[in-house]
Amino acid sequence: MSKLLINGPDGKEGIDPRYVLKGDWPDDIERSPIKAIRQKCIDCSGGSATEVKKCTVTGCALYPFRMGKNIFHSRCANPEGNIGPILREKQD
Ligand code: SF4
Repeated sequence: MSKLLINGPDGKEGIDPRYVLKGDWPDDIERSPIKAIRQKCIDCSGGSATEVKKCTVTGCALYPFRMGKNIFHSRCANPEGNIGPILREKQD
């Protein structure tokens, strides 16, 4: 059994990640939340980064982060250093 699972009262269940020993994580586990979101979005889009870019599910909680950047941090904003003006101009 994976070291990330335990036997709970109703069968196998995942361990609270806060209690997983550092060495018990798989070597290839993504440790960056933003990169993990990006991986999930690529998985959701059938392995296509192009499809992630074109995602229209604006209500998805991962939508703002799907390009692998936290756009709410100014250092990750667009090349002009702002959040969103290019997209807003395109919509006008
Ligand atoms: S933002 Fe789009 S691509 Fe990412 S998980 Fe949500 S629906 Fe899928």
